[in-house]
Amino acid sequence: MNLSSLLTIVIALGLIVVLLSLVRSYRQLRPVAPQPGGEEGVNLPQMAGDFGPRVTSRRIAYVGLSFTLLFLTAGGFHLYWAFFAAGPLRFDKIYGNLRQLEDNRRRRESESTLRGWIFDRHHDTSRTLVRYRYQNGKVLREYPLGEAAVHLTGYSSPIYGDTQLEKVLTGSSKSAHPETLSEKLEALGREPDRPVVAADLVTSIDGELQQEAYEQIRRYSGAVVVLNPQNGQILALASSPGFDPEPSRLHTSWKQLVTDKIKTPLTNRPLLSRYSPGSTFKTLVAAAAIEANLDQQLFTCRPGGWVPPGASRPINDDNDHVHGQIGLTEAFTKSCNQYFAQMGVALDRQRMATAANRFGFEIFAEAKESLRADLHKQFWNVDTPAISLVLAPLRSSFVSSPKLALVDLAQESIGQGFVLATPLQMALVAAGVANSNGEIMQPQLELARPPVVMSQAMAAATAARVRRLMAGVVSDGTAENILPLLADQATAAGKTGTAQREVIVRDPATGEPLTYTDKQGKVFFKKRPVQDAWFIGFAPVDNPKIAFAVIVEDGGYGGKIAAPIAARLIIRARQLSLLR
Ligand SMILES: [Zn+2]
Repeated sequence: MNLSSLLTIVIALGLIVVLLSLVRSYRQLRPVAPQPGGEEGVNLPQMAGDFGPRVTSRRIAYVGLSFTLLFLTAGGFHLYWAFFAAGPLRFDKIYGNLRQLEDNRRRRESESTLRGWIFDRHHDTSRTLVRYRYQNGKVLREYPLGEAAVHLTGYSSPIYGDTQLEKVLTGSSKSAHPETLSEKLEALGREPDRPVVAADLVTSIDGELQQEAYEQIRRYSGAVVVLNPQNGQILALASSPGFDPEPSRLHTSWKQLVTDKIKTPLTNRPLLSRYSPGSTFKTLVAAAAIEANLDQQLFTCRPGGWVPPGASRPINDDNDHVHGQIGLTEAFTKSCNQYFAQMGVALDRQRMATAANRFGFEIFAEAKESLRADLHKQFWNVDTPAISLVLAPLRSSFVSSPKLALVDLAQESIGQGFVLATPLQMALVAAGVANSNGEIMQPQLELARPPVVMSQAMAAATAARVRRLMAGVVSDGTAENILPLLADQATAAGKTGTAQREVIVRDPATGEPLTYTDKQGKVFFKKRPVQDAWFIGFAPVDNPKIAFAVIVEDGGYGGKIAAPIAARLIIRARQLSLLR
């Protein structure tokens, strides 16, 4: 039983008691009322009527009646709150319509204190991410990029609330300096992280690149992150599938958005989905190997795979490829699993953990703990503190402890097993390599921020060396198929990844998980293996201006699906003068 039903019972009982006592006192009062002709006999003093028993009892009845009315009003309000506003009827259609009317009234009030616009990096009124438009005397909040940027702009709905950057802008200009008592009280109750002035927000996003990033992945489920590796400015942050943020269309699609458990359109994938990074993680292992002076080491990639000490199952290459004796450069361009599994074990737990941590991964001693990784609330380089909270990404995690089995370390070294990363995190791995000092700059969404170093991922010389390794992947490795796409227009470097995972199979109609029963009668979820396609990298090869991560869920090979998407984005970035 919840609080409101308990209160309902208490109030109902109270009302009954009050009504019963009123009826009783009314009956008792009646006999005291003057009898006909009794005035002479009793000889009561003829006073001004004020204290006459008839008048007094009538007044008591009036007072009682007004109290009853007050009680009924209070009880009525309570029932309204218990059943409609917070209780089981709040989804009722008639009530919904009534509430809509009230919301409209509130909307008009809020429109009298308009919030700011959101601009892309050109700060031009023709290239906004969120703006106002006047139509038929009404003020409409508009999202020119629509679903292509919804996970960044968010939406502002009287019913579903404010999200993302729209939430950052939720503030009222009048309360910057509270003057009246009510403004002061309001300011006291306000969350301290909310901005007080409804100023415009000029972001570092390039609206046209954002549009292109979304166009490139809208057929799939996935994410694209593009940033400037030299200053940390985010240029595009796309998540697919998207949805239309326009309030009335949001209202018609809401039920589908919430219940679609297969595509989960509300999920902000670049920030909040964690995946196995697959072979893109070898970028980090290569940097660690160079820093540990192990880069001249050769390992053998043999038929039947490599079995880590203490393990029973071997680690194989994709399609059981065998590379024989192999060094770092060839192993990286061909993405040899056996080499990097052995290298990870040679580096051992401590050096691998140190490298992962420098690249921005949180280190966990227990795999169980790493699955509960929390939001990183000091992630962004910000002017507006609300951005840090509203767009906090999930922490990416790496598991390392003296207890960790070597086979688990070997698995993590090829980006499988316990290691989990957001697309944003993998874009930062690429950015650290692309940065001329080997530094990862703290990501920022506001255009005017001075750059801040987040961490020294590796020495500058190591970064230069890894840049050459990544250039080899495009010129002569697993992503050479994108060369025709780049033509002679741009150079690029990167690392492909094809990460295995199992997903629960769901009924396409209901979205419910499918199950099967084994011979013993145990029920299991049906699962199927999928391959997430990754490509991380940067362009141009000399003097990188953009770094990126692309992931296509269930896309197959990273080189075939994700790398061409990145190539088209690089060409677009060049057209937009972002590579200069
Ligand atoms: Zn191999």
